[in-house]
Amino acid sequence: MNILVLNCGSSSVKFQLIHTDADKIKTDTDHRLAHGVIERIGGPALVSFSVQNPDGSQRTTREAVPLRDHSAAIEKIVQWIISPETNIPGISAYSDIAAVGHRVVHGGEALTRSMIITDDVVKQIEDCIDLAPLHNPQNLKGIYAIRKVFGGTAKQVAVFDTAFHHTLPDYAYLYAIPYQFYRRHKIRRYGFHGISHRYVQYRYRTLKSIPREDVNVISIHLGNGASVCAIKGGRSHDTSMGMTPLEGLIMGTRSGDIDPAVLEHLAHKEGFSLSDVEAVLNKQSGLLGISGLTNDMRELVAEAVENDDRRAKLAIEMFAYRAKKYIGSYLASLNGASAIIFTGGIGENSDYVRGRILDGLDWLGIRTDEALNKATTRGKEGKISSEGSRLDVYVIPTNEELLIARDTLRCVIGLELPR
Ligand code: ADP
Repeated sequence: MNILVLNCGSSSVKFQLIHTDADKIKTDTDHRLAHGVIERIGGPALVSFSVQNPDGSQRTTREAVPLRDHSAAIEKIVQWIISPETNIPGISAYSDIAAVGHRVVHGGEALTRSMIITDDVVKQIEDCIDLAPLHNPQNLKGIYAIRKVFGGTAKQVAVFDTAFHHTLPDYAYLYAIPYQFYRRHKIRRYGFHGISHRYVQYRYRTLKSIPREDVNVISIHLGNGASVCAIKGGRSHDTSMGMTPLEGLIMGTRSGDIDPAVLEHLAHKEGFSLSDVEAVLNKQSGLLGISGLTNDMRELVAEAVENDDRRAKLAIEMFAYRAKKYIGSYLASLNGASAIIFTGGIGENSDYVRGRILDGLDWLGIRTDEALNKATTRGKEGKISSEGSRLDVYVIPTNEELLIARDTLRCVIGLELPR
């Protein structure tokens, strides 16, 4: 079956077209046929579409074209996919796209597994807008747009970024504020990046040939957004992002953990409203705020290594130190683990940042193999700790789209969902 995977942002749509079926999942042979992104929807949008050639190379087309909304953008994507010029084997009509899987950021407390999108599910995703005002409305735009483009009978599945974390125990997900605020307003830790942490958990047990129950690991997703997940018996036991993706690690533009009293103080000193302060913490902080240069880790590493830039070095040091603190705390919360796994743009590509995070952890029995660490970048998967290291350290490139495609297929054909 051909599954269209969509990730809708406020003015962008990312997509992948993935060919999968039950046997292909078992043999890990499902594969991507095409992918692309449309940015700046609402004006002269930038379109970049790529199709995989049989020899593994890609054919990419780019254009600027006015697209007024998400429906127009999705119509553009589908028209391109089915066009004879694109020439994707076996695809020439709407009906060749069997189902659409959506990344939906927030499923709240009720939506704890991937599911077929019915009117009732749409209503429940709408109910979660209050918890994710920046994200869920964009995901819903994609769902409405597919109904418009394919008609009301299109098979759509929602895969939630929060769902993997529904197994957090109450002592991990509650904040120590009066309990009635949890009851009244559902204020609690939900956690995000769940699709990525779940994928990493699946790949790790596949690599090790162990059952899910034996997966006790710390998964560290370091991208523009960043989070850590303590995985116990294959289930999420704790995670660093909270009610929103602002909590936890230092990120590209987000502060991560901060004393909440700073908010009032900053508002008072700078004459900011609460939402001004929140914008500072979400958009002007993190690597960007500390370095004063950029939120892009690759640029920061270049500044630190080539130009010895003091604030670039400080930003990387703080980023690595925060990640290391979480490793220590989650090792304690799990009563030990067998591996630490890096993923996300920074986790997969930067041996430098991984090295900074792991530096000095030999006392824990973590020994990094420098050569393996250096060699494991750009999509490579594998172990970077040395033989005899008490804890393994792995790099596992994430593949959220593949997991969404597989869950979509499972929901559509009625296969049981793994947790
Ligand atoms: P998102 O969270 O937006 O999906 P990604 O997972 O793509 O982000 O990660 C983006 C981050 O990864 C950027 O900060 C980018 O600079 C960083 N990155 C990618 N390659 C490297 C590299 N070789 N060295 C350091 N950082 C890198």
